[in-house]
Amino acid sequence: MTAPVITVDGPGGAGKGTLCKALAAALGWHLLDSGAIYRVLALAALHHQVNLESEEALAPLAAHLDVRFVAEEEELQVILEGEDVSGEIRTQEVANAASQVAAFPRVREALLRRQRAFREAPGLIADGRDMGTVVFPDAPVKIFLDASSEERARRRMLQLQEKGFSVNFERLLAEIQERDSRDRNRSVAPLVPAEDALVLDSTRLSIEQVIEKALQCAREKL
Ligand code: C5P
Repeated sequence: MTAPVITVDGPGGAGKGTLCKALAAALGWHLLDSGAIYRVLALAALHHQVNLESEEALAPLAAHLDVRFVAEEEELQVILEGEDVSGEIRTQEVANAASQVAAFPRVREALLRRQRAFREAPGLIADGRDMGTVVFPDAPVKIFLDASSEERARRRMLQLQEKGFSVNFERLLAEIQERDSRDRNRSVAPLVPAEDALVLDSTRLSIEQVIEKALQCAREKL
C-alpha cells in the first residue's frame, strides 16, 4: 500500500512551512519542502552561470542535480554538490530565480520523480505549489493555505527585521506580487487549489487556528 500524503499548497508567506512542520510533528510523518528543490536548482544555475531563461540548459541541470536533504532536528539542511547551502537558498534573489526556473515544463518534469520519492511510510506532508494538483493528485488530504499579499509582505518584513535587516515594505510587496503572478499564471502546474482541497485563509486566522483546522480535516479523511 502506498503511504498517505497530506498536501499543503499556497503562495509564499502564507504559513505553509510552519503548518507543515506542525503536522509532521503531530503525526510523526516525513516532510517534503518542494520549494527548496526549486531554490537549490536556481542556486545551481546561478553558481554555474546557466541562463535562467533557457529551458534547454536548465532541464539537464535539474535532471542531474546533486542535492541531498538532511533533516536536522527542526531544520532542513540542504547540501548542493557537497556544500551546505541551507542559508543561501533562502534569499529573495534565489526565491525570484526559483520562480523563473519553475515556470519551465521540462524542468518540472525532471524534478517529479525526485519529489515523489519522499513518499514513504508512515506518511508524508508535502509543502509546495502543485502538490495536490500534479505531484500527489491521489493524496487523501489536501490543504490550500492562502493569505493576502499585504499580510504576507508584513510577516516577511517582521522576519527580516528580527534578523537585523532594514526593509522597504513597498519593494517587498512588489516582489511578492510579481512572484505570485508568475506562479499563478504559468501554463504548467499553476498555483491553484486542487478541486478537492480545503481552502484556508491565514490573513485573519492565527497559526494555531490554521493547525487545528488542518488536523481536524486530516482526522476526518484519514
Ligand atoms: O515555497 P518557496 O518560496 O520556497 O518556493 C520558491 C519558488 O519555487 C516558488 O515561488 C515557485 O515558483 C517554485 N515552486 C514551484 N512548485 C513547488 C514549490 C515551489 O513552482 N511545488
